Amino acid sequence: MSILIKNGRVVTACDDYRADIFVHDSTVTLIGKDLVLDADRVIDAAGKLVIPGGVDPHTHLELPFGSTSTSDTFETGTRAAAFGGTTCIIDFAVQFKGVSTLEALDTWHEKAAGKTAIDYGFHMIITDMPDHRVPEMRRLSDEGVTSYKLFMAYPGAFLSDDGTIFRAMRKAGEDGTLVCMHAENGIVIDELIKIALAEGHIAPKYHALTRPTRLEAEGTHRALAIAEVARAPVYIVHLSALDSLKELRDARARGVMAHAETCPQYLLLDETAYDAPGFEGAKYVLTPPLREKWNQEELWRGLRNGDLNVISTDHCPFCLKEQKEIGKDDFSKIPNGGPGVENRMSLIYHHGVGKGRISLNRFVELTSTAPAKIFGLFPKKGTIAVGSDADIVIFDPDHEETISVHNARTHHMNIDYSAYEGFRVKGFTETVISRGKVIIDKGDYVGRAGDGMFIKRGPYGGAHAGLRDGV
Ligand SMILES: [Zn+2]
Repeated sequence: MSILIKNGRVVTACDDYRADIFVHDSTVTLIGKDLVLDADRVIDAAGKLVIPGGVDPHTHLELPFGSTSTSDTFETGTRAAAFGGTTCIIDFAVQFKGVSTLEALDTWHEKAAGKTAIDYGFHMIITDMPDHRVPEMRRLSDEGVTSYKLFMAYPGAFLSDDGTIFRAMRKAGEDGTLVCMHAENGIVIDELIKIALAEGHIAPKYHALTRPTRLEAEGTHRALAIAEVARAPVYIVHLSALDSLKELRDARARGVMAHAETCPQYLLLDETAYDAPGFEGAKYVLTPPLREKWNQEELWRGLRNGDLNVISTDHCPFCLKEQKEIGKDDFSKIPNGGPGVENRMSLIYHHGVGKGRISLNRFVELTSTAPAKIFGLFPKKGTIAVGSDADIVIFDPDHEETISVHNARTHHMNIDYSAYEGFRVKGFTETVISRGKVIIDKGDYVGRAGDGMFIKRGPYGGAHAGLRDGV
């Protein structure tokens, strides 16, 4: 199978030019001006952007959470991602206490194998890592799982103590892998939740009021300090507020090998969403919670100047009916998380590039190239180049849509609401090629479950790769 993409404007993290792209089997084999070649399929991309497929390094498909699990399966979630111009996700496998991470990996392979529309990798959520199991981390990395996530939040479920975090970071530093941190002081948060409930506060907005930015900043500070002493790189997930961003800046100025991501919800939604009538605020019970609006411009500035490296979604969907409703009488029981994997590229293009906050190259970098590099997928993923996987999005910069759960073009996620209901976006995915196969053809899904495959990732490839001994 070969595809010739003609007349497009090719944009990568560092290039912007007009050229034709020839795809043979699964990779890009030739890029040039006015190519005259026989191809099985010719796509005219005149007037369109031709960009690397999005890489979303933070999704939770089929994630068990209390008595329920996220509403998107590997099949529905990856198909929705494809509609939105994302061609690779890194999802989170979960190791529960006392179980081997290798067993956990097998479980997640079973969930995903043969089901996905696009390629995928796994991080491993580690909930405990006693000394005798530390060598597992090397085995995981041999299996292509080269990053882990540890939590400072959710005591009794996911929380790791600081000793575990230090052990994991030290080992990751030695192995050339990477620890991702959910940085929030969950122990103090649990105290605040107890106080709120004792005072009879059960509404969704108390989710936000019991998770102040200071406790995210404290977790961020602690994660960065432990990484500094462990002499290892660290990746802060879903950074949501200026208080934490300041910690990141300070740490980086002292030479800490830090990366951080933020997500569309922190850039575009704010705490007033919790004032929605009735139980509607539960749609936005995600963690960290939405913040005061003024934080948004601070985060955009952080994305522009390089303090923040990646925009992921933390796609973690729970339906309002029957799932979020579990917490109807107690906000602390509402499953935490929100949807977004399908909307990321259009939202960030519109509000970032369209509104002059970030350049077109920076848009590609934040949504594709940087996560591919940091998480060991580059140059297979994250760019358009000879030899790279043909993960290519033909993006129409003029196509306008209104995101809505009722708009069949913007909502393929298996969830009964949209977090961005009514958001108008200009800039929309038209055609998606995943490893050389057209899977979205002018807005129609033409792929099938099982097109995607597990990608074994390489070692940590961020800005500090290979520097560790010299720093
Ligand atoms: Zn998450």
